[in-house]
Amino acid sequence: MAVTILNCCTGCGACVAACPLAALTLMTERPGGYGRRRAFVRVARCTDCGACVPSCPHLALELPTLG
Ligand code: SF4
Ligand code: SF4
Repeated sequence: MAVTILNCCTGCGACVAACPLAALTLMTERPGGYGRRRAFVRVARCTDCGACVPSCPHLALELPTLG
């Protein structure tokens, strides 16, 4: 599992510095620098620790729920 990035992400980048495992990165939605900039999660690195969740001013980060 990994943290979920919701569509309300503005690409502000605040979460990137908050992740101790460098699991978050900013990218454009389309290759070549086109489209909206937003956060993406490197799923293999994310441990669901939750450290990034309160760093987002737009409430765009959600931890997966069990069940
Ligand atoms: S839940 Fe933890 S490991 Fe996953 S992206 Fe957020 S801060 Fe990084
Ligand atoms: S802090 Fe929130 S709005 Fe900003 S890039 Fe991260 S997920 Fe997106």
